[in-house]
Amino acid sequence: MYQSFIGLEVHIHLLTKTKVFCGCRSAFGDEPNANVCPVCLGYPGVLPVLNREAVKMGCMVAKALNCTIPEKTWFERKQYFYPDMTKNYQISQFASPLGQNGCVDIEGTWGVKRVRIHECHLEEDAGKMIHTGAVSLLDYNRAGVSLLEIVTEPDMETGEQAEVFIQQFRRMVRYLGVCDGNMEEGSLRADANVSINLPGKGLGKKVEIKNLNSSRFVRLGLNYEIERQAKVLDAGKAVTQETRLWNQNRDQTEPMRHKENAQDYRYFPEPDLPVFEPDAAFLKSVEDAMVELPLPRQKRLENECGVSPEQAAIICEERAFADYFESAVAAALRISSGLDKKSAASRIANWLLTDIKHILARDGVALSAIGSFTLTVDRFARLVAMTADGSLSTKNAKQALELALSEDRDPAVIIREKGWEQITDPAKIAEVVALVEQEEAATIAEAREAAAAKNQKRRRTLAAFLVGKALEKTQGRADPRVVGKQMQAIIDAVNGGA
Ligand code: ADP
Ligand code: ZN
Ligand code: MG
Repeated sequence: MYQSFIGLEVHIHLLTKTKVFCGCRSAFGDEPNANVCPVCLGYPGVLPVLNREAVKMGCMVAKALNCTIPEKTWFERKQYFYPDMTKNYQISQFASPLGQNGCVDIEGTWGVKRVRIHECHLEEDAGKMIHTGAVSLLDYNRAGVSLLEIVTEPDMETGEQAEVFIQQFRRMVRYLGVCDGNMEEGSLRADANVSINLPGKGLGKKVEIKNLNSSRFVRLGLNYEIERQAKVLDAGKAVTQETRLWNQNRDQTEPMRHKENAQDYRYFPEPDLPVFEPDAAFLKSVEDAMVELPLPRQKRLENECGVSPEQAAIICEERAFADYFESAVAAALRISSGLDKKSAASRIANWLLTDIKHILARDGVALSAIGSFTLTVDRFARLVAMTADGSLSTKNAKQALELALSEDRDPAVIIREKGWEQITDPAKIAEVVALVEQEEAATIAEAREAAAAKNQKRRRTLAAFLVGKALEKTQGRADPRVVGKQMQAIIDAVNGGA
């Protein structure tokens, strides 16, 4: 068996309104070449101006990845020729990346794994080439868009770990609000590096896999490559250090047609941009913009709210969804004095992860858009509080929920109008139970016989039937727990006396 080493290079588009060195709009999907100017088209003699918002967002990611932000950070020119980059160099960072020496934990079937982060650096994206038959078209809208690159150390071992790294990182940058994480649109892109070697022999010859536009492809591509390299070594051959492309139609990696040589980029400091020295005010603005990150939030909800790790993970998938959950718990506690935090949270989690989640999917509301959902937190909390204190049956609560959504009204009002409040008063319920006792005398007798004969199954079936009769008489409004108790008492009483 071999040991494997995986390091990722993840690029994210920062959600700055304008590009990183000019005032052009930074947006996906606009008319080609609509958002360009002499700076991002690389005309001679123009001057780049650093977008501070991009640096701030970059520093937020750096902090979230536990990186050190250096006292001085600057830019270099990374020189190479390619038609998607008219300047023939990319402004990037080389010697002083804005985030250095971090680490992040990833959780999965392997437990907790710490992945060291080598650096995060800010750079400009290149334009986009569109190949159509005999011609290639160039769209420079993307040229100059703020790009943050995160480079990990080769600390991961399996495709699964790399997949989880990307998923957790994606969730993190979405929480921070610095990237939309859309892999299909290329707002989050990953290149995966992998080598294998005999245990204890250190890193092997590395292969870089490109063209991985989903976290699933990252997993598949890496696992394919680990197997492929093992076969090469098993055959007594050496792995070629190269760049390969993931072919999603054939589920395999393939060598890139024209092999890129290790270029000499001739990095040198960008003379047109001053060194950036984050001062106290800047660092405070970064600190103030930070939010509770998804993984710690997940742990906090497990501890504070008693939800299961699986539930906490789903709740925390989107920040807006977790906010909705926590606001609903707080609102339910305000409304209902009988609820404690854990019982409120468990009820709300159950509703949220089953009925509400289904409804959101059905109505095409994204989890991230739940903040503007028709069912406001207060309406939802009232519904939950009413089922918790027994004044509303689950069945009627679900009906009220649907009406509240279709009519955009407070479910509490609907419940009052419909007369759906649950009947919990034992005296009222006793009247109904007495009626059933008269009408179903034969069934009661049979239930008593079953009880006497210790035929529990039969007794339970008959008792359930009798409870059902009583519920029918109240259109389902009688509290089934109270009905059940009273019905049982009737069966037991005579049975005990006989
Ligand atoms: P390059 O010089 O090719 O850019 P770097 O040293 O900058 O290589 O590393 C790029 C990425 O490749 C990093 O994520 C790093 O962890 C990973 N990496 C480097 N060497 C190896 C190796 N031998 N096996 C697996 N991953 C590696
Ligand atoms: Zn521009
Ligand atoms: Mg490198």
